[in-house]
Amino acid sequence: MAHHAQRGEGRVDSIFAAATPPGRGGVAVIRLSGPEARAIAGRLTGALPPPRQAQLRAFRDPAGGEVLDRGIVLLFPAPASYTGEDVVELQGHGGPAVVRSLLDALRRAGGRLAQPGEFTERAFLNGRMDLSQAEGVAALIEADSEAARRAAMRSVEGAFGQRVAELGAALADRRARLEAGLDFPDEEEPAEAGQAALADDLDRLREQLGEIRARAGAGWRLSQGQRVALVGPPNAGKSSLLNALTESEAAIVAATPGTTRDVIRETARVAGQALELLDTAGLRPAAEQEEVEREGARRARASAEGADALLLVVEEGAAPGPEAEEMALSRPERPVLLIRNKIDRSGRPPGLGEEPLGGRPVTAAAVSAHTGAGLEAVREWLEASLQAAAGAEEPWAARERHLEALADAEQALGEARRLAGDGEALEDLVADALRRAQQRLGAITGAVSSEDLLDRIFSSFCIGK
Ligand code: GDP
Repeated sequence: MAHHAQRGEGRVDSIFAAATPPGRGGVAVIRLSGPEARAIAGRLTGALPPPRQAQLRAFRDPAGGEVLDRGIVLLFPAPASYTGEDVVELQGHGGPAVVRSLLDALRRAGGRLAQPGEFTERAFLNGRMDLSQAEGVAALIEADSEAARRAAMRSVEGAFGQRVAELGAALADRRARLEAGLDFPDEEEPAEAGQAALADDLDRLREQLGEIRARAGAGWRLSQGQRVALVGPPNAGKSSLLNALTESEAAIVAATPGTTRDVIRETARVAGQALELLDTAGLRPAAEQEEVEREGARRARASAEGADALLLVVEEGAAPGPEAEEMALSRPERPVLLIRNKIDRSGRPPGLGEEPLGGRPVTAAAVSAHTGAGLEAVREWLEASLQAAAGAEEPWAARERHLEALADAEQALGEARRLAGDGEALEDLVADALRRAQQRLGAITGAVSSEDLLDRIFSSFCIGK
């Protein structure tokens, strides 16, 4: 889809779009960018104010002169603007008809309605930001949670792209030395020394790549929303709890053991965090289960395996059972909350405590899904645990394509390392693997990019950004 007509062609047209979302609001912002931005805006506003100074103007129909709206005009001259081009911002009243009339007037004044992401694409093409920063902008706009916002800001500020670029430069440097034959200068120098040094260098580079992958991976997981699995024996009250926590009726609540046979996914918001609650099939010993229930239990285990936190639900006073215990302890670093439900029956007060589970101390909460007692503590525990889990690694907002590029680079570097360890001087092959790794890293920052890639990236943005 070659909708970015200006790329690679001589003439650059001037684009405009509403930067504020459709609907009603106090103010609507419309932006123009391009070589004709000043002239086009001037046809509505008359003389533009000095750079970066807000002034009130009438916004007039360029044909008839009718005053369409009255508002603020701002001029950001090239090259120190968001796009690197002349940018003019009109701030009018935030009504749908106002915005429509202004957009129509700008079109008649010679502008073209921007495609999704076209402002940011221009910023990239004009060297105002690298690709990872541009994608960070999209992530920032999509961020729902505090943790996702922080990860996106790190990418927008360039931390991700910079580290990737540094590693790419280090790879290029290492390759240049290899190709110049500096590692194996002549017959006198023992080849083993050169090879050992190469192997060491490759190990160090792989370590750096590993850290980048970990942070990008964490950022990607954040953008997907963290997953919380509700697990426990049948009738413990998992479905009721899910309903109480999400205040909806998505799960079937029934008193017959084994009713919840499939995994029900429900997204809940806890303090801005998107949580996916997995109401999983009850976990009874396999021998007691019917076939369909066994299938449910299998899916439950698979779902819980990938969850970022576990809520292990039991009836107050009941033992969780070995199956649930094992699941809870399968990943020791993952937060587990043992929920003791139905305290309305015993009259026990709600609250948090600590209990051993399979030899490991875990937080336990006394709650009632029916009365809602203790659920606030569950929400608070979830919020704290998930933020700690996501924030610990200082993640960078990243997309699937970044993770793929990093995985490819890792594979190429691994291959280089194997060749270097083979004890033969396979400089050409090592250099080739380094070049491949370097190229894949270049795709992240946009040092290496294609029209196709840019179209795919920017068409996923919203219009006006
Ligand atoms: P699941 O099989 O773990 O999903 O359990 P359900 O949510 O279907 O609940 C099983 C039974 O326990 C139902 O009859 C619920 O009404 C009941 N139940 C769930 N939570 C509570 C609670 O907090 N107090 C009481 N008294 N009963 C509950």
